[in-house]
Amino acid sequence: MDERTPKFKRILEDMDIEDNELSERFKNIKVLSYHPKTRNFIFKLYAGLLYGNDKLYTFGYRNSPKCDYCNEKQTLKHLLIECDMIKSLRACIYTRMRMPLTDMEALYGSGIYEVDYIALHINKYIYQCKYLEKQPHSEEFFHIMSSEMYIEGLIAEKRDRLVQHKAKWNKINVFNINNTT
Ligand SMILES: [Zn+2]
Repeated sequence: MDERTPKFKRILEDMDIEDNELSERFKNIKVLSYHPKTRNFIFKLYAGLLYGNDKLYTFGYRNSPKCDYCNEKQTLKHLLIECDMIKSLRACIYTRMRMPLTDMEALYGSGIYEVDYIALHINKYIYQCKYLEKQPHSEEFFHIMSSEMYIEGLIAEKRDRLVQHKAKWNKINVFNINNTT
């Protein structure tokens, strides 16, 4: 992949992230998920290939450049970070997980596996909700994460990798994913 496309440069400028930092994140894609679809999502996120309604409108895929959840123009950053509705969603998730993330960490991770795993799945969830034109809810997000843990457990059992599976989810569960209270 050419990491120096104009689009890529613009993201670095927008997000104030050093390109060597972002390159480090690219290396983690395989570590973060073994689902091809999730890997594809992370790749697109890091490479600036995901779009808000502003771009989709320009391409003719949406009737309006406005946000699905408020009246502002929906850039990708607005959708994932700046929208008030998303801010309150993130606040609910961060509070329960006791994991406040900076905007940069929320978008591109921190280099810490369990934080990046959650950050990525929050972004994926928001993007999917937008795609399906539905409202995101923190409870649904936690439900999805619990299901993910359960399904990965079944796969790990078949592959005789339960030890690795438990080690991974013990780390992630520091953040209360599976605590339904
Ligand atoms: Zn909005």
